[in-house]
This record gives sequence, structure tokens and C-alpha cells, in this order.
Amino acid sequence: MKIKNIKGSSKVSEKPPKGYSSWLDYWEKNRNFTLKPGDKYKCPACGKSFTRDNFDGCHVQKVDSTDQKWYIIPLCDSCNHRIDAPDIGFIRLVEVPSNLE
Ligand SMILES: [Zn+2]
Repeated sequence: MKIKNIKGSSKVSEKPPKGYSSWLDYWEKNRNFTLKPGDKYKCPACGKSFTRDNFDGCHVQKVDSTDQKWYIIPLCDSCNHRIDAPDIGFIRLVEVPSNLE
């Protein structure tokens, strides 16, 4: 599945929903999967390994899809600013609450 960063999304929904400390926290809680501090995880877009500090909850949309919803996915710092459309495989996206769209 290819995704693209949503330009300007930080202006629209800079703050995560109530009860979440960050968009990464939002993804973790809704996905029921926590990136443990100290452990390394592969960024789904570039395949490089990073610790939790290097991941951001990134706002993305699917490419080549009629689904125009906004999703959150953890990407490394540099992939968070990519302008191409990396293939992230089958990682599960977490939908952004519609009242923020
Ligand atoms: Zn990356």
C-alpha cells in the first residue's frame, strides 16, 4: 500500500485528540501496540531501524485509492517529511477522528 504525507496537516491537527500525549501515542493506543523505549523498530517506509524517539505519528492518505480519509502511521523523522509515495506494505493505519478533518 502506498501512502503520501498530507501537506499542512500539522496546522490542521497539530494537537492530538484529548487523552493522547501525541499522535504516536494515539496510534499506539488505537493499535494496541506500544513501541518500547530502547527497542528498535523498522520504519515501514524506508526499512531502517530506529528507536521510539525517532518516530512520529504521521498524517497520511492512501495513494491510488478512492479512500481519502486521513490516517496516522508511525514514520521516522525523515520519512515524515517525504514528498514521494513510499510503499508501507500491510501495516495497519489508524484513522484520524473525523471531527479533526
Ligand atoms: Zn523512514
